[in-house]
Amino acid sequence: MKETVKAEENEVFDIELNIDILKANQKLAEENRKLLQKNGIKAIDIMGAIGAGKTSLIEKLVKALKNKYRIVAFKGDLTTTIDAEQIARHGVEVVPINTGKECHLDANLVKKALQRLDLTKIDLLFIENVGNLICPAEFPLGSQKRIVVISVTEGPYMVIKHPFIFTDADVAVINKIDLAKAMQVDIKKLEKDVKAINPNAQVAFTNCRTGEGINTVIEALRL
Ligand code: MG
Ligand code: ZN
Repeated sequence: MKETVKAEENEVFDIELNIDILKANQKLAEENRKLLQKNGIKAIDIMGAIGAGKTSLIEKLVKALKNKYRIVAFKGDLTTTIDAEQIARHGVEVVPINTGKECHLDANLVKKALQRLDLTKIDLLFIENVGNLICPAEFPLGSQKRIVVISVTEGPYMVIKHPFIFTDADVAVINKIDLAKAMQVDIKKLEKDVKAINPNAQVAFTNCRTGEGINTVIEALRL
């Protein structure tokens, strides 16, 4: 595992959204996108609430794909490296990114993490955002595809209550489907809610503990 990227005091863009901050982030995201493209790296970022299963999804994707691609993962968290260590156990390089007090990753921190690596030796990059359903949507990172992970334990209204995170998502992963009945959540209704917000989003149903449905995520990502 690489040394943790740490946000300096006042470095992370402030949570109070103003247009200039978003514009500055957008510009850096474009730079990241170009840099990744130039090096032939496919980057995918994963957003979702705390406990939705973002880390478990990455672990299962890494397991399924690590013989096919040279994989690196970035893991955004406030101060811990618990998830980063969990992913690193699968034998891939991980760069932990600690945001300090901020509730989302931004393109600047991703740029700093990219500087830690030899980009010519990477095919596939997973970026796990801080657990949050709101502001990550406003901060593109320069990835080619964005995934939102939803778990049925978040209840039946999770999608309609947080529409903006789905508007730019390429794939919505509905996780913990084994618990749907106990939670009295209709997963087909969640899918409909996603499609109503973003008809282009692909929807996959998973149990990231067992690996059920992981292949449909891989297909949706065209990996
Ligand atoms: Mg996690
Ligand atoms: Zn935030």
